[in-house]
Amino acid sequence: MNKTLDTGIKNSRNVLRYAFGTGTLQMLQDLLNDKRESNTSSVVFFIDEFFKHNDSVIERLPVSSSDIVIYTNTKNEPTTDYINELTNTIKSSKGNNPCAVVGMGGGITLDTAKAVANLLTNGGKAEDYQGWDLVKKPGIYKIGIPTLSGTGAEATRTCVMTNKNTGLKLGMNSDHTVYDQLILDPELTKTVPRNQYFYTGMDAYIHCMESLQGNYRNAIGDAFSHQTLALCREVFLSDDMMTDENRSKLMVASYLGGCAIANSYVGIVHPFSAGLSVVFNEHHCVANCMVMNAMEEFYPEYYDEFWMMVEKQGVKIPSGIAKGLNETLYDELYNSTVIHEKPLINALGENYKKILSRDKVREIFEKI
Ligand code: NAD
Ligand code: ZN
Repeated sequence: MNKTLDTGIKNSRNVLRYAFGTGTLQMLQDLLNDKRESNTSSVVFFIDEFFKHNDSVIERLPVSSSDIVIYTNTKNEPTTDYINELTNTIKSSKGNNPCAVVGMGGGITLDTAKAVANLLTNGGKAEDYQGWDLVKKPGIYKIGIPTLSGTGAEATRTCVMTNKNTGLKLGMNSDHTVYDQLILDPELTKTVPRNQYFYTGMDAYIHCMESLQGNYRNAIGDAFSHQTLALCREVFLSDDMMTDENRSKLMVASYLGGCAIANSYVGIVHPFSAGLSVVFNEHHCVANCMVMNAMEEFYPEYYDEFWMMVEKQGVKIPSGIAKGLNETLYDELYNSTVIHEKPLINALGENYKKILSRDKVREIFEKI
């Protein structure tokens, strides 16, 4: 069944401009100068907290005295409260809106910058915009600089946030969320720990294999997915996934994977991964990899390839987190998994709840 996907997006939007290649970080100064109309124009930098003590990168950033630098907390994935707090901090320290927002880091930081840029011009609270096309005005001009490859957050029209009061994990899906400019400098991913590099890189692989195995298909999404998977295979089936060449390839795969997911749906891995995030606070990318422990019956070929890549790169995938739990926790896991209708219909059809009964979901979590 190859149906054209109805993502609700009638007219796909891509990132406006991107610069790619080693050393492109140095272009940031000129890009910002074009936006700084006067000496008093300020820029807000969201920088992954990993770089706080990495002088060789921080010293290269064109920060001026009127700018605001915020080191993003990456211990927890963004909450709506965190986004509101950062927005209020910026509003209370500056009279006018900044002329640009820069997000430099992994998916958490890229998403934080997107959300705050929207809130600064639209007003209200982050939770008001969780959903589809609720952001009415363009956000502040924003530049994304990924330092970790895989999520595709640099390319997509969403920024994932959790509302702790309602438990809703949903982004501001909007054309206004897309970055205006990207700087894709593979030099920046050199310092990523190997396990993290694998987990996040695999988000691109998993997004695309889920899309290609889905019922709802779209020719453009498929083309992006095929190329993303080809690059992931070159990287993760090679002897060392982190050579200069491979870090370059994975940065491209991440960007293309983000374009793919904007035109398609994920499948079974992401809903189970969301269950692990909601119940155990596991981060998105490691949670996806944990779910792969139980995916043999749904994605047999990709399952074999995934574990071949794990072995080849000598990385560690945690397991056993959801074994032997009490029934209340299995209820929570079940509810936070089957709620993801669109991806599960994409993977299993309209009657997915017949396949994913509570017992079946429990059995799958036991394998994770
Ligand atoms: P992350 O932002 O969670 O960071 C993971 C860790 O890597 C952190 O400790 C961070 O400090 C560190 N790190 C980042 N860059 C580094 C570097 N160059 N050197 C050393 N350490 C570095 O990483 P992620 O996996 O890229 O992002 C996950 C987030 O992305 C989740 O919040 C998820 O919801 C979101 N996400 C968003 C989209 C989207 O379309 N917007 C898609 C998928 C996932
Ligand atoms: Zn993902």
